[in-house]
Amino acid sequence: MTQTPPAAPRPSSDSSSTDLQATRIVILGGGPGGYEAALVARRLGADVTIVERQGMGGAAVLTDVVPSKTLIATAEWMTVAETGSELGIKVSGLSTPLRLDVDLAAVNSRVMALAAAQSADIRARLERENVRIVLGHGRLDGPSRVVVDSPVGADAPLVLDADVILVSTGATPRILDSAVPDGERIFTWTQIYNLTELPEKLIVVGSGVTGAEFAGAYNALGCEVVLISSRDRVLPGEDADAANLIEEVFRGRGMTVRSRSRAESARVVGSGADARVEVTLSDGSIVEGSHLLMAVGSVPSTAGIGLEEAGVRLTPSGHIEVDKVSRTSARGVYAAGDCTGVFPLASVAAMQGRVAMSHALGDAVAPIKLRTVAANIFTAPEIATVGYSEKKLIAQGSKYLTTILPLSRNPRAKMLGIRDGFVKMFSHPDAGVVLGGVVVAPRASELIFPITLAVEHRLTADDVAEAFTVYPSLSGSIAEVARMSHHVSE
Ligand SMILES: Cc1cc2nc3c(=O)[nH]c(=O)nc-3n(C[C@H](O)[C@H](O)[C@H](O)COP(=O)(O)OP(=O)(O)OC[C@H]3O[C@@H](n4cnc5c(N)ncnc54)[C@H](O)[C@@H]3O)c2cc1C
Repeated sequence: MTQTPPAAPRPSSDSSSTDLQATRIVILGGGPGGYEAALVARRLGADVTIVERQGMGGAAVLTDVVPSKTLIATAEWMTVAETGSELGIKVSGLSTPLRLDVDLAAVNSRVMALAAAQSADIRARLERENVRIVLGHGRLDGPSRVVVDSPVGADAPLVLDADVILVSTGATPRILDSAVPDGERIFTWTQIYNLTELPEKLIVVGSGVTGAEFAGAYNALGCEVVLISSRDRVLPGEDADAANLIEEVFRGRGMTVRSRSRAESARVVGSGADARVEVTLSDGSIVEGSHLLMAVGSVPSTAGIGLEEAGVRLTPSGHIEVDKVSRTSARGVYAAGDCTGVFPLASVAAMQGRVAMSHALGDAVAPIKLRTVAANIFTAPEIATVGYSEKKLIAQGSKYLTTILPLSRNPRAKMLGIRDGFVKMFSHPDAGVVLGGVVVAPRASELIFPITLAVEHRLTADDVAEAFTVYPSLSGSIAEVARMSHHVSE
């Protein structure tokens, strides 16, 4: 026996179209790709259902972005405290330099509580907007039907007929058969919040963004960390100057970075409190620690949900092929977010979802522009980037000019005791148009915005240089680096 859900109440703003059947949208996955799309679709008057198996906000809110950035917020206080004695701060009755300790159980319970609260906020917002929420694992049954075999709170499968389907099922951590996480000693990033005590020695396998962020955070929290990278340096896909700086900072804080070392397998030896983890590298050597975090990428959640049967084409990596307005190869089926592999960022997932709904519902829509995506790596210091990277400019044979300024010359940075970091700008040598930028600094995620505006609106370096900045301020270095490019190109 199957059941059909009651229709969602129509929005009050929809009174002009009461005679018309609202477009039925079914969204599979309630992460940023899905829930942002749902809000747009409701605003455009559609009847919207989200099917979600885990919780509103998706992996972004429950296991990935929100938990990791909350943990990193604590870690950041620990690195700020490092400069306390230099700035003349001391705690009465205690010796300097200050030594702070964390209560990891308290940190992780705050992390999980904040994620749960954020998920509840998103759910409440969706309910206020009259989005119907179905909890359960959904699958496509052709290009215009979604089936939830065992919806939570019902004893029969649920069939949802749709005029438009949006697939936004995200991705899950990649698991190696030779290093299977047990959630106690060997973790994925979704399980590491189980820890109630700081590991004595944490091994992190994988030096991409996730591996680098966790390695940096745990090192700052006071834990011995070994970071294993199969490549020449950490953050191999990122700006080389930024990656080299972070690697130096990591080593300077006492982290062991093992480059060009591929982890072949991992196992737990011993049991109980005496258990240890052994990671075998491709050269046969063994790295030993108390705990292991595997951060070796993710796989799209696209298997076994009827996509190919519905005519949705997948790439060899299992990602859903989409065009710039999020259409898949199946008419009426759109896809957004990490399941498409376009750019694994919450902001991009949300944009793809919004674009999909605007397109499907006939609203004005501009194809997604990846050239202007701003991204941040939440290490200490942070690494923020926007626009073309140097690697891309070289690969496409573009003419470009690089200007770079270390933060150590910035007066505000000196006052704050900031030594590590820089601002870098790429601009066209003739037209002066800003092509991209990199900021390595505390809160680089905030500082990158003027460069993002410049890239988005094709401003020239002179446009940026002519704007006032506060004196003294870190953003003064952005105007300064823009001024430098004027003098170089003269
Ligand atoms: C550790 C970590 C940190 C990150 N930090 C950042 C950051 O700081 N900033 C940033 O922009 N990005 C960050 N990202 C990337 C970001 O998490 C993703 O890009 C984002 O979650 C993608 O959103 P999404 O909607 O595609 O998928 P998700 O957030 O993964 O949501 C997909 C949802 O679909 C559900 N689902 C899957 N299959 C089904 C099914 N068959 N039926 C029902 N429901 C289903 C899942 O349960 C999940 O809730 C981080 C990623 C990781 C791993």
